[in-house]
Amino acid sequence: MVTLTQINPNTIEFAEKYGPIINGKMVEPINGYIDAVNSATGKVLSKIGRCGQEEIDQAVKAAREAFPGWSNTSIEERARLLNKIADVLEENQERLKMIECMETGRALHEFDPDYQLSIYQFRYFAAAMLTFYEGESRPVQNGYLITKKEPLGVCAQIIPWNVPMIMTSFKLAPALAAGNTVVLKPAEDACLSVMEFIKLAAEILPKGVINVVPGYGEEAGQSLIEHPDIDKLAFTGSVNVGRLVGKKAGEKLIPVTLELGGKSPHIVFPDVDIDQAVENAVFAFTTFNGQSCILGTRLLIHHDIYDKFVEKLIERAKQVKIGPPTERSTRIGSIINEKQGKRVLSYFEIAKNEGAKILHGGNRVTVPGHENGYFIEPTVIEAEPHMRIAQEEIFGPACTVTRWNDEDEMIKIANGVDYGLAAGIMTNNLESALNTANKLEAGSVWINSYFNFQSGAPFGGYKNSGVGREYSKEALDAYSQSKTIVAAYKLPPAGFFK
Ligand code: NAD
Repeated sequence: MVTLTQINPNTIEFAEKYGPIINGKMVEPINGYIDAVNSATGKVLSKIGRCGQEEIDQAVKAAREAFPGWSNTSIEERARLLNKIADVLEENQERLKMIECMETGRALHEFDPDYQLSIYQFRYFAAAMLTFYEGESRPVQNGYLITKKEPLGVCAQIIPWNVPMIMTSFKLAPALAAGNTVVLKPAEDACLSVMEFIKLAAEILPKGVINVVPGYGEEAGQSLIEHPDIDKLAFTGSVNVGRLVGKKAGEKLIPVTLELGGKSPHIVFPDVDIDQAVENAVFAFTTFNGQSCILGTRLLIHHDIYDKFVEKLIERAKQVKIGPPTERSTRIGSIINEKQGKRVLSYFEIAKNEGAKILHGGNRVTVPGHENGYFIEPTVIEAEPHMRIAQEEIFGPACTVTRWNDEDEMIKIANGVDYGLAAGIMTNNLESALNTANKLEAGSVWINSYFNFQSGAPFGGYKNSGVGREYSKEALDAYSQSKTIVAAYKLPPAGFFK
């Protein structure tokens, strides 16, 4: 098998263009194409379709027509096909990882865990489905009761650009396993890996079961959420667009899953080994170039070790290698695009104006040969909990540091944001760790090891971080509805209705 380090990014060949995939084949979009760009160099890699109302109508129609056949396909057969999709993803992963690295600008080494998780999603839901339909059946007076799960129908799914394959697998695997058909709208800023993967997956499934409609949010995305013939909306992205999606679901009275932003606390108790804790803290806010909803971006450090911890944090942040994303040793690559890069830098200005102190970083850096890329130093900012820099999602490699002394006060700061996606705790004291975890308003809490994703554990947010859970069996509930059938052995005697 070819390994990732053996793939030379300069030899990757792309199709000239990637139109939408509808009813099993790639078609020409009426409104033409959008450039797909290498984030670190600005070089155009290929073109993706600019879908609009016309393509969305065709895709929803194809998904609707495929639904009766797919929903009546046996669970065993659906599981077999999902495993086949996992196989294809596994076989093609090294090429897809490199494509995704070039498009997103994220450091190459990060894609090994991304793809492991994505492949696993298809295998997990193939297996989970085999036990999901257990339902309930029991005798009742003069008859029998059966409860069963049924798929919802056509699912519209919209994903962001930061982790394209993880997002694709989180959305597709449970929806398909439960017997639904799908129209997927990937992000305009990074979707070449998704297009290549769906091309392969669509060949495995009956025509129309998965359809993909790339394009801009305000065109393809908007047409999809407004379409009258969809049965479920699933969205990952920003809070503002999440609210629009939720509103549309409310108007249509269809179920919705929302995975939105985050501003996660990472809490440091005084008993930790400072070097180990600092390593975990830097990993937690710089991974994904800081462009992820789950990062530990608010470091809450106990007063007794604050000064020492912050000194070592800065020392460690200085050592993080910023470089070309396609090099294995790089730890911070390029921000997705100039607009996003400027947004990150503007937050540092906001922080200074609010009276926060930039202790390290805060600047754009130039990486030779990649002058068009937007590379940003890992940035450490001393801030008060109420400041915007400590309240809003930055989506860049930055963290705030804040001192705490009293546990109740620390919990108040930790929970004092609109978000509630994840949280981290570092301590050797199990009692402190579990007591704190119980009090945190967060969908995932990682003690002593940030990003500790475990098979089948529910993932999703409290408060503005979203509605519903993915990655776990709970996702099958989100893509199904229950039916209760009560069967009486015979009709009631004539004249019972007096
Ligand atoms: P975004 O909300 O701008 O875009 C996300 C997707 O929605 C894209 O495909 C976009 O084209 C589409 N979209 C945009 N406007 C739309 C509209 N009016 N109607 C329908 N679709 C529309 O978010 P982004 O900038 O791509 O991603 C960053 C955000 O995603 C961050 O807030 C981040 O925290 C969040 N995120 C959350 C999770 C999670 O699991 N909770 C995971 C990854 C990213």
